[in-house]
Amino acid sequence: MFNFFTDKNKVNDRYEITGADYNHVKNVLRMRVGENLLVSFEKKSDLCVIETITDTKIIARVEQEDYIDTNLPVEIYLFQGLPKSDKMELIIQKAVELGVTEIIPVETARSIVKLDGKKSENKVSRWQTISESAAKQSKRNIIPTVTSVLTFSNAVKKANELDLVIIPYENEKGMTATKDALSKIKSGMRIGIFIGPEGGFEEKEVSAITDIGGTSVSLGKRILRAETAAITAVSMIMLHAEMNI
Ligand code: SAH
Repeated sequence: MFNFFTDKNKVNDRYEITGADYNHVKNVLRMRVGENLLVSFEKKSDLCVIETITDTKIIARVEQEDYIDTNLPVEIYLFQGLPKSDKMELIIQKAVELGVTEIIPVETARSIVKLDGKKSENKVSRWQTISESAAKQSKRNIIPTVTSVLTFSNAVKKANELDLVIIPYENEKGMTATKDALSKIKSGMRIGIFIGPEGGFEEKEVSAITDIGGTSVSLGKRILRAETAAITAVSMIMLHAEMNI
């Protein structure tokens, strides 16, 4: 079912669809009066029926409020060390499917890609588009934000405001720290995950995270590629939250 995300709440049980979404519903999907679609506003999705189609807007009437809730009981913030080429696109697509709240691209000591100014802006807007289509495809109630690229120290500052932070680190031995971190997860928590680029994190970057109370954890004995590590870490938190909260 088509999922339309809006920042304007319904009035008298009706949403207005305008602009690019109007064009998409009317001319691309060729939807007609009487057909159903989902409208998401502030983390909730209402089942709606198209009531009117004019030359400029579509009016959709709510049939069932809060129809599907695909939100996780926790919020996941993925801090991703900038990887090479188009790996970030894969990471964003998969992380959004798995339920991430926000993706923060981070320039780390071993990031080979350097993004500045216009180049960085263009990348971020492309990444945001990928997040939006993955959100629609996976029936998320929100479109996760891809923030602008942060320096490592700004990323640490942002992470310091979260409730729980983990940094998967290939030199960490054993699963005790991983289990301990998972056992601390409670409903409503905001959880940060730091994943390194291909070259991994420098030791001092790992210490910067443990200094703010973060936990260095293992994702198993094998060395994972950055994109596999990101997907594994988000899946681990997602499944833990779905099963235990
Ligand atoms: N440079 C390293 C690999 C880095 S992998 C090497 O070649 O030895 C990229 C990122 O994935 C790491 O920074 C880490 O965050 C994560 N990662 C990969 N394998 C991991 C594992 N077994 N446990 C925890 N994190 C892992």
